Amino acid sequence: MRTPPATIDELARAIRNVPDFPKPGIQFKDITPVLADPRLFSGCIDRLTENLPPGSIDAIVGVDARGFIFAAAAALKLNAGFVPVRKKGKLPYQTHEQSYDLEYGANTIAIHVDAIKPGSRVVLIDDLLATGGTARAAAALLKKVGAEIVAVTFFIELAFLNGREKLKGFPVRSLVVF
Ligand code: AMP
Repeated sequence: MRTPPATIDELARAIRNVPDFPKPGIQFKDITPVLADPRLFSGCIDRLTENLPPGSIDAIVGVDARGFIFAAAAALKLNAGFVPVRKKGKLPYQTHEQSYDLEYGANTIAIHVDAIKPGSRVVLIDDLLATGGTARAAAALLKKVGAEIVAVTFFIELAFLNGREKLKGFPVRSLVVF
């Protein structure tokens, strides 16, 4: 008999809370128990890609670094390309860059100038939506290369941080909401 696909509840229960990591006051959502379980990992990718028929998307864009894990698996499933958005200084070719504010300081992310053909239909995937700064900066990079953002998708959303406010105008979807 075929094993039933993982439920959202099962995925939520497998996420481990690590208090005070990487600094005091932050409760880190550890996804490694989900990744280590093939039924949970594949269920997660199935759910991240549902509503997206294979062939309907040109590229899945993943954000450095945990976003890569989900985006690469989703790209294979949808027969789409995988495009990395990386922290500044990591991509070898010419890049567009976008900076955004963190609680303390700022961060800069980058994409190769030729990573995506203008007009391409793309889905942006990251592991977690917190304040939304990272995803908004990644969306700005995708605008710079002329991509059409079909969806912005997260495994986890920390709803109390109102990250969606920063992503107004994009179809935002998340699987597990805390
Ligand atoms: P933000 O730009 O505030 O939406 O932060 C999103 C990015 O930070 C994601 O790429 C996450 O990997 C990471 N992140 C932020 N908060 C957490 C958390 N509580 N647990 C795990 N990762 C987090």
